Amino acid sequence: MKTFIENMPKAELHVHIEGTLEPELSFALAQKNGVTLNAKTPEEMIAAYNFHDLPSFLDIYYAGMSVLIGEEDFYQLTMAYLTRAAQQNIVYVELFFDPQAHTSRGVSFHTVISGIDRARTDAATQLNVECQLILCFLRDMSAESAMQHLMMAEPYIDKLVGVGLDSDEKNNPPEKFSAVFAKARDMGLKLTMHCDVNQDNTLEHIRQVIEEIKVDRIDHGVNILASTELCDLAKAKKLGLTVCPVSNKFVVQSLTSKEIKDMLALGLTPCINSDDPSYFRAYLNENLVALQEEGGFSKQELVTLVENSFKASWLSEEGKAHYLAQLDHYVAAKSAA
Ligand SMILES: [Zn+2]
Repeated sequence: MKTFIENMPKAELHVHIEGTLEPELSFALAQKNGVTLNAKTPEEMIAAYNFHDLPSFLDIYYAGMSVLIGEEDFYQLTMAYLTRAAQQNIVYVELFFDPQAHTSRGVSFHTVISGIDRARTDAATQLNVECQLILCFLRDMSAESAMQHLMMAEPYIDKLVGVGLDSDEKNNPPEKFSAVFAKARDMGLKLTMHCDVNQDNTLEHIRQVIEEIKVDRIDHGVNILASTELCDLAKAKKLGLTVCPVSNKFVVQSLTSKEIKDMLALGLTPCINSDDPSYFRAYLNENLVALQEEGGFSKQELVTLVENSFKASWLSEEGKAHYLAQLDHYVAAKSAA
């Protein structure tokens, strides 16, 4: 089963590029850029990753970004992740980046997007990994700041497929960003928002993202299961839910395998993702393998989850058909073997 998972052609729709920063690269960039880190070795850095909720994770996550300064740093970070993706047989990625976490440190929007986009272009030819970019706004910053960053992105609009919303959800409901997301929609971008696990007012937030913001997808969204009405809405709109099992485990002490099975049984469209794989020490394959072990998923259920990630993606219909055929071919060859 492990080999079947590892060799399967897969997509990832919920991964933050800043959350792929491995400690070794962090040390190399710190040395190059003259930045002082709290830890003395990569091992010591990993030992300090003791998250138990969203704020405790975010503190360490934002501190880690201080080593990213120049265009080449963003290029190296993105190339390192996409190389790892290729090794995991991930053929398609929709990658989040958080420009406000960099502009607030004096790094320009141009520097950030240029480095990431150059790696994205190189990965398509050198690694055979297709990648599209999602600009994420930090919800604990103001709606004005989000709008300013959307305007900064306008000259680079051809490099983006969509916008998202992440960071601390407490007291930062989706509707705070209604105008920004309406504007992004007008600019031709797809919309997604995080509805993190077990947040205050989570059902009201999920309702807002579906009914008011009218998103094209929901990130996490596991708590939707508590509302039949919201499940029916998400099902009717065929909304993908990007669930991140190992990330969830830091908050709810489970990989949410039961919830993912319930979603499948209800006809929802969950898919499996890694979120911040360096910090959680698990890339997509490790998420899928751990999930299978916890929940005893069948091969068919795993294939459905991977199919869902292509179906919920923002590829063209031809693009989706291409990758789904590749997956079908893999599954057929494995059953024949
Ligand atoms: Zn996330």
